[in-house]
Amino acid sequence: MNAQSLLPAPAPTPSVAPLIGADVAELTNWMQAQGQPAYRGKQLHQWIYQRGIRSLSEVSVFPKAWRDTVAEVNIGRSRIAFRAPSKDGTVKFLLEMVDGQIIEAVGIPSYRPGSQKLERLTVCVSSQVGCAMACDFCATGKGGFKRNLERHEIVDQILTVQADFQKRVSNVVFMGMGEPLLNTETVLESVRSMNQDIGIGQRSITISTVGIPGQIARLADRHLQATLAVSLHASNQQVREQLIPSAKRYPLESLLEECRDYVNITGRRVSFEYIVLTGVNDQTQHAHELAQLVRGFQCHVNLIPYNPISEVDYQRPNDRQLQIFMAALKAKNVAVSVRRSRGLDADAACGQLRANQLELQSEA
Ligand code: SAH
Repeated sequence: MNAQSLLPAPAPTPSVAPLIGADVAELTNWMQAQGQPAYRGKQLHQWIYQRGIRSLSEVSVFPKAWRDTVAEVNIGRSRIAFRAPSKDGTVKFLLEMVDGQIIEAVGIPSYRPGSQKLERLTVCVSSQVGCAMACDFCATGKGGFKRNLERHEIVDQILTVQADFQKRVSNVVFMGMGEPLLNTETVLESVRSMNQDIGIGQRSITISTVGIPGQIARLADRHLQATLAVSLHASNQQVREQLIPSAKRYPLESLLEECRDYVNITGRRVSFEYIVLTGVNDQTQHAHELAQLVRGFQCHVNLIPYNPISEVDYQRPNDRQLQIFMAALKAKNVAVSVRRSRGLDADAACGQLRANQLELQSEA
């Protein structure tokens, strides 16, 4: 027996044909490469995106003998490793990728006031496994960065939530794990698929970024019609650097300049996210500074009361503090609203996403 045979055998890499996220032309090519007629590409497209198949063996319009030969091919769907429903109807999913990595996706239903009728179904999607940005208040960053997600892994999150809720997804926010603009090309490919293959309006898709130099300009060049949300979180460079390490390499003025160009080129307003941390960035002086920063800017400020995570001891503002801060912004003519976080009890709210090992163990 040689030394090598004592090592554990490498895990076999399951065969994956990442058909999820592919358009009709790509699916047609793939079917033809399998010796199937071209028209089956369109059929496959329908079965993937309208019926949400998990395996080619489910496509009953395909010849049974052929289906049997491809039944084991992984078409790029993830496995639901854990499902955490919250009291408000929000459901957090831990999804296992083919290499064993775990990501999170959250389904957020909104009901018509006073009725049980589902008005919107929003999915909060991840763009990376983990995150490299290490923002001080965010749970995802505490676990570090593992890898970028691939196109099929992003689109799969929509199909998974859609199947679980038995409802069509109407809105998507890239506010799960990761920094979408460190995976820009793949994110844009997934946006194309969500829009053209699944049928979600581009304007109902929001990409949230902390700001990566040159990347917002890249979105502007593409005349992106999705909504751009920028995590500002501070009214001056000093506080921003305290909260967001990457801010040191990307001064606030440069970020805002890139946003201004984005508004001019796309004609779309930018949404600025502002996490509210008691005593850190929520004083009247901060409101005035913030109003000054965004003056004359076609934008909207979205306040996010801090959702507690265990590693840091920031304080969540109470309603009164929040109202005072909001009023100070309104008095300066800033368009502002508060994001009421959903899914807090399932750790599914903004900034609380992490692949929680304990949850996985409790399921086993
Ligand atoms: N990397 C992207 C997506 C992050 S998650 C970005 O930075 O925009 C979406 C939003 O949740 C971001 O604005 C993020 O800063 C915010 N967030 C992170 N941790 C939070 C927390 N503990 N409480 C409230 N919001 C948080």
